Amino acid sequence: MDTNLLNHKISKLRQRLGANVVAIDAIKNWLATSDTFQRVRINPYQVGEHSGLGLDAIVPEFLYGVTAGLFDMHWDIHCPHCNMITAEFNNLADTSGDCFCKICEFNFDADFSERVKVTFSLSKEIEDLNIIPNCDYPAELNPKFNMLVNFNQTEFVVDTLTTGRYRYFCPITLSKGILVVEGEPTKPEELESIQIKQLSGRDFDKKEIVVRPGKIKLELTNLGHAISGIYVIDDNLLDNLPLDKIPPRLSGLQLIHFPAYKRLFGNQVLSEREQIKIRAVTVIFTDITGSTRMYEQLGDAKAYNLVRDHFDIFFKAINHHGGTEIKTIGDAIMASFITNKQALEAVTEALINIKEYNRHREDTEKVKVKVGMHRGSAVLVNLNNRLDYFGRTINKAARIQNLSKSDQLSFSEDVYNDEEFLSTLKYNGWLVFQKTYEDLKGIEGQQVVYKAKLLEGS
Ligand SMILES: [Zn+2]
Repeated sequence: MDTNLLNHKISKLRQRLGANVVAIDAIKNWLATSDTFQRVRINPYQVGEHSGLGLDAIVPEFLYGVTAGLFDMHWDIHCPHCNMITAEFNNLADTSGDCFCKICEFNFDADFSERVKVTFSLSKEIEDLNIIPNCDYPAELNPKFNMLVNFNQTEFVVDTLTTGRYRYFCPITLSKGILVVEGEPTKPEELESIQIKQLSGRDFDKKEIVVRPGKIKLELTNLGHAISGIYVIDDNLLDNLPLDKIPPRLSGLQLIHFPAYKRLFGNQVLSEREQIKIRAVTVIFTDITGSTRMYEQLGDAKAYNLVRDHFDIFFKAINHHGGTEIKTIGDAIMASFITNKQALEAVTEALINIKEYNRHREDTEKVKVKVGMHRGSAVLVNLNNRLDYFGRTINKAARIQNLSKSDQLSFSEDVYNDEEFLSTLKYNGWLVFQKTYEDLKGIEGQQVVYKAKLLEGS
């Protein structure tokens, strides 16, 4: 590692106006105590855990670090079965949602909120590790054992295997095979021996091995790569590895909600026609009520200023609570959030600040806003070179907003069923005053919509 260059880049980063020096020092400390494998792909959660700082502090400094040539950013796609990295990209523009896992031989659509992980590494001019990134297998896969073997070396492990079907693979060379354990168990003093060779390319010399239950010695000789290894796991993989069984990771969806991402990498969007699915995202729409009358009574210039002021108030609240504004449509705003709670907190803050803004204004100059909220699946797309969402969730959120009147928030049953949302609603002084069944244009079947308003004095 070129520590002089590292220190130089870090001191540059610290000098930036508005730099979070506590977070930068935390990253520096982490780097000093980390091992090589951790640095192949740096997980901001690990740095946060090490320093006691939140992602809000850590991630922006990594992003500024990328622009300063200190770090490289990676978008890694993980297989939903085995969790291995199936593809990685350095720019969102190169990312593809259509993925194939060579270990599972399985096609899948990458989910931006679950299977796309963002990591960092020191830039190559500071440290060129030349190690293919891989990731730990989760406990859910019942890992038996693993080992790593350098080129031209032989290593072995001794373990006991019970009857079953296992897969052995190397996450670095992507070589793989099946290990079948069947038949009469061996005697306690017996040791069955298996020899496997890592060849160049993606092959072990054996694709299927059958042994009897009992004690085995598995030996790997690496003839083909700088590093090879063997992981042995159960063959019956889960369809969709639960996220809580995987170490926490910064998802692509989380990253695009950081204001610093938008500021620094807002031009990094998906390529045209590319789309990445998102299992769940919260979307809000806001609109000014009576804006036509406002424009007529005040004239375009003055009314436009009021609209701009209201945008500023909303954008500030949206960013303050971890959301990102996707676009404005006339006087309306569309924004997205990772959770319903964040969305509600942003709406609450914005509406309170708009009330304050209106306090000393003539009635004709008061800005009144209505809001709609819904949560569901969507696809992330590139629309006019900006990230945008597409799908039924978005349409429904827009329709729900239309049901609101001034100072009201309408939301769907999907949002209402979220306990955390409900307790935040109460805590922030909202009153749910109506539950209705609505026909929403373009959406099949009657939809339950709740309406709420902020209690006076909130
Ligand atoms: Zn896989």
